[in-house]
Amino acid sequence: MLIVQKYGGTSVGSIERIKNVARKVAKTRDQGHDIVVVVSAMSGETDRLISLAHEITTSPAEREMDLLVSSGERVTIALLAITLNSLGYPAKAFTGRQVGIVTDSIHTKARIERVGGERVREALRQGIIPVVAGFQGISEESDVTTLGRGGSDLSAVAVAAALKADMCDIYTDVDGVYTADPNVVVNARRLDRVSYEEMLEMASLGAKVLQNRAVEYAAKYGVKVRVLSTFVEGEGTLLTEEDEDMEKVVVSGVTHDRNQVKITIIGVPDRPGIAAKIFGTIADASIVVDMIIQNVSQESLTDISFTVPHADVNKTVEIMRGVTKDIGAKELEVKEDIAKVSIVGVGMRSHSGVAAKMFSTLAAEGINIMMISTSEIKISCVIDAKYTELAVRALHRAFELES
Ligand code: ADP
Ligand code: ASP
Ligand code: MG
Repeated sequence: MLIVQKYGGTSVGSIERIKNVARKVAKTRDQGHDIVVVVSAMSGETDRLISLAHEITTSPAEREMDLLVSSGERVTIALLAITLNSLGYPAKAFTGRQVGIVTDSIHTKARIERVGGERVREALRQGIIPVVAGFQGISEESDVTTLGRGGSDLSAVAVAAALKADMCDIYTDVDGVYTADPNVVVNARRLDRVSYEEMLEMASLGAKVLQNRAVEYAAKYGVKVRVLSTFVEGEGTLLTEEDEDMEKVVVSGVTHDRNQVKITIIGVPDRPGIAAKIFGTIADASIVVDMIIQNVSQESLTDISFTVPHADVNKTVEIMRGVTKDIGAKELEVKEDIAKVSIVGVGMRSHSGVAAKMFSTLAAEGINIMMISTSEIKISCVIDAKYTELAVRALHRAFELES
């Protein structure tokens, strides 16, 4: 078999842990498999590099940010390849450029356009273990790009797709995908299987165990993905196509996301074209808006609120200052201490009363809902960040997800 193994930041967080990863890779190799390893930066390293830049300015150039943060993965690929070689397992480290991971030029969240993979194939033919830097690619202009936070998952899936690997194993610090973040809900339950569609929603709604774009890519190219622990043996969680059994479960998971910021434009003139102007401008800056609400207008003025990822807040505020002036709105308000809690399940399609139960559960805990959004298989509520854990635990209990 050809197996792609991806190891996250905690798994390679120290030299001791890198040695542990090398032993796991060696063991897979001894079982007769071909193996490609993809690694993240050491835990905390990407954050550390970002904060160094932020000591200089709140809005560093994104091209330079990509070059800066991509250095984290260079360190771990080299260290892991050195370790494997020292154990007598020939290995070679490759950067995103060397692997031919070509992306668009949207720095800090580039999309993969194609994966060449020539040098990886060549190494495999020679019996050498390729160790590939996650999170990074190269634009057509030959600039280093990165694939968004958690992007090493996407690198692994994309490499697996390009090589037509039999399996893409994502090794991390938990032993699978749970009904809620196991670090928040102690009695959360590991799922043996989860559908691509549910996993995509969960990942998009804050379950950072897998990057949402990695799930999307895996579904699109039919990559077999498993989530496993680096530290304990186990079956993990397999991403699969949906089946009838899954439909019987109304809610499969509860997620939370503290990574959004709510922006409100107060006193917006209520006339056609205004929303298009606001959100068109944001979209032009490649910022992804999540929730949007517009209040009932009073005296032809209304308030529009929306959420954007924390990482884009400075950029958004800058843009919105201009737009607010242009459209003649009164002021701009930024609220950072919010969280989005969501419930996800394909069974919601065929069950009613789910939203009502979610709202009454939050109400019973005295938690106010600021924004709501729904889709076929999820319901999300924005709440005050200080109630996040309370909300997640209450919902987990209410929908009977405990083990
Ligand atoms: P890595 O560095 O290996 O990529 P991450 O920190 O990105 O690891 O993702 C693993 C973390 O995801 C876990 O430590 C856990 O706290 C968090 N997590 C959030 N939601 C879930 C969930 N539903 N199931 C499992 N883990 C989750
Ligand atoms: N090192 C990157 C990050 O912290 C990519 C990853 O870990 O997947 O976001
Ligand atoms: Mg991750």
